[in-house]
Amino acid sequence: MTVGVHPLAGFDKLLHYKVPESLRAQIAIGSLVRIPIMNRLLLGIVAEFSEPVDFPVSRLKPLADVVYPFPALPPDLLSLARWMSSYYAAKHDSIIETMLPAAVRNAANIKQEKLLSIARVIPADELAALMKRAPAQSKLYQFLAQQFKPQKKSLVIGRLGATAAVVAALVKRGLVLEENRRVERIAYTDDWSTGEVVASQPHNLNPGQQTAVDTIAATLAENKFVVTLLHGVTGSGKTEVYLRAMHDALAVGGGVIFLVPEVALTPQTVSRLRGRLEAIAPGHKCMVWHSHLSEGERLDGWLSLATGESKIVVGARSAIFAPVQNLKLIIVDEEHEPAYKQDETPRYHGRDVAVMRAKLNNALCLLGSATPSLESYSNAQAGKYRLIGLPERVDARKLPHIDIVDMRVEIVRQRGFTSLSRKLVDAMHARFEKREQTILFLNRRGYSPSMQCTKCGHVEECPHCSITMTYHRSDEKLRCHLCGQEAVAPARCPACGAPEIRWKGMGTQRVEEAVRRVLPKARLERMDTDTMSKKNRFREILSDFRAGKIDILIGTQMIAKGLDFPNVTLVGLIDADISMHIPDFRANERTFQLLVQVAGRAGRGDRAGEVVVQTFTPQAEAIQFSRHADFEGFAASELKMRKDFRYPPYRHLIHHLFRGPSEEKLKFFTEQWARHVEKELAGRVELRGPSPSPIEKIKDEYRYQVWYFTNGVTRVIADLNALRTAFAWPDDITQVLDVDPVNL
Ligand code: ADP
Ligand code: ZN
Repeated sequence: MTVGVHPLAGFDKLLHYKVPESLRAQIAIGSLVRIPIMNRLLLGIVAEFSEPVDFPVSRLKPLADVVYPFPALPPDLLSLARWMSSYYAAKHDSIIETMLPAAVRNAANIKQEKLLSIARVIPADELAALMKRAPAQSKLYQFLAQQFKPQKKSLVIGRLGATAAVVAALVKRGLVLEENRRVERIAYTDDWSTGEVVASQPHNLNPGQQTAVDTIAATLAENKFVVTLLHGVTGSGKTEVYLRAMHDALAVGGGVIFLVPEVALTPQTVSRLRGRLEAIAPGHKCMVWHSHLSEGERLDGWLSLATGESKIVVGARSAIFAPVQNLKLIIVDEEHEPAYKQDETPRYHGRDVAVMRAKLNNALCLLGSATPSLESYSNAQAGKYRLIGLPERVDARKLPHIDIVDMRVEIVRQRGFTSLSRKLVDAMHARFEKREQTILFLNRRGYSPSMQCTKCGHVEECPHCSITMTYHRSDEKLRCHLCGQEAVAPARCPACGAPEIRWKGMGTQRVEEAVRRVLPKARLERMDTDTMSKKNRFREILSDFRAGKIDILIGTQMIAKGLDFPNVTLVGLIDADISMHIPDFRANERTFQLLVQVAGRAGRGDRAGEVVVQTFTPQAEAIQFSRHADFEGFAASELKMRKDFRYPPYRHLIHHLFRGPSEEKLKFFTEQWARHVEKELAGRVELRGPSPSPIEKIKDEYRYQVWYFTNGVTRVIADLNALRTAFAWPDDITQVLDVDPVNL
């Protein structure tokens, strides 16, 4: 018997080994094995049972060892890795590295403990005889006979002053059983479940939810690959639908992966889910998978899933690689979220990988959102995905009323720059009087994004990046939000020495200051990455807010999503224009999503909500459609534009970034390259560029980009890789290929 093995690191090819007789029973596709390579033992994954084509089998070396008695990468993950490697232009070993926890990649020992229990009940005369002949053995036997469950060997020995020899003798006589059990540090009882406790009584489904649940149950029963898009407005009760679907999948012995965007993975979400799951599918362990797990916790969670002990995992993006057995259902909540895209190698999209993994398992992939991505929505329209709608909020709660405030008018009225319109200030006052809560949202931290001298016009930029320095008033510093460069905020213009410095634009700190001025008595908290550096601060603030100890919460996108606070009746969007003016063809889509999601935080209790949106471009489509949460209207208009320009979802987009210390050299080589590709792949890709990236310099490196538009990603990636390898690049140019880029 011979196998083809993928070494875990350094070799991007398959190597063949003999399987010794003694290991045959343990070996399977996906087994983690130790293999001899050049006098060393390295780890590898068994990819196939096959023989080498160009090497005599008799001269193959035997593999040394099988690490775990179950496959570390089940066949579906192996296939997924192959697909990802060819689609996302990533090395196979970088994908395996992403899929396996570090502890597994280091072949960590599974900690085991020995448990003792009695093997059979013995009659009184036999016991009497034992007492006489071997008192220590009988003492131990009698102790175990009184216990309800197996006891730890080390504890029993210590407690009774016995020895290992006594245990061994009892085992040999067939009176005591000794078993190995895995020790768990375990993530499913970590502090994520002890955070906020949220009531967990199940709801009676409303008719809309019931239809959705029935449809999904019927789909699950088909046992085939289907993608269902659940388009439910904010507060329509999608979570309850997910839970029933999970119940149905578990009931037939299936496994479930539940993905949420990292920002939404709060203890609140998790404990709410756990509470409901406990009621709906009692006794199931629900693993939580997030970036703060220790290596040991991650290993435990992984083992528990790989061995089939647990069947559910809830987690951020990378949980899509959890070794869930008999996978029947993958849920991707807030499927439109850019956070599902990984912005380092391998640059995969968690949602798209979820769809692929469901396909490999003949499973159901359930995508949910109040504002589906246009990719998913157009797939639904084309009949590739099934569409289920939940157009109403639960209990007939109204969607909040949205006021659009034209800040051009406001500036004239208030005679100059202002971060808070009258309308918003009045509304905040009214909530404060009524003891209701307000969330203010601004997706920019710091005090002000740029300082400008009114005398000479100088704007302070980062010395290493082509962006302005952000002013942080809390510690009087200028900071570059790209590279972290810091400087003391100057009192005079660094260029001409004039004292007339003006802070342009606003960040969360400036809004906080403005709110303190107009509502000095209100209890206020700011939540952005600057205030969240302390561990647990996030959770503290959220639970204080829930408990009503905070009147107004100001924050960045951290607070835009998924939060459910019934006493919030006012949401203010301080600057709706930020996301509209980014150089990204999805700018409108992002703005629309943001507006609808932010508005969705208001009026989730029994009182109606109000939303105040401040903008300088009130006529923009994204803003007008969001007023009525008109997703269909927005999608129709935006999709038409995308179609005219043949942008995604009508074609795929591949981004090619080039970085280097010399701008001239970068320009020269990228131009050569672009001409070369245009010739070689004529008719297969449409190429745009090269051009300087929107941010031309980051950390002292210049950046150029080329875009490829295509219908067939995998083939174009293969060709680009071949051309890249053959092209004579200088050493100091780095490149990154990003397929289906999300954050441009
Ligand atoms: P979505 O994710 O669609 O925005 P959620 O799942 O968060 O909505 O549900 C919104 C609120 O409605 C939650 O507080 C939830 O507990 C509640 N809810 C869900 N379904 C029902 C129901 N059938 N009856 C009453 N309340 C419900
Ligand atoms: Zn910088």
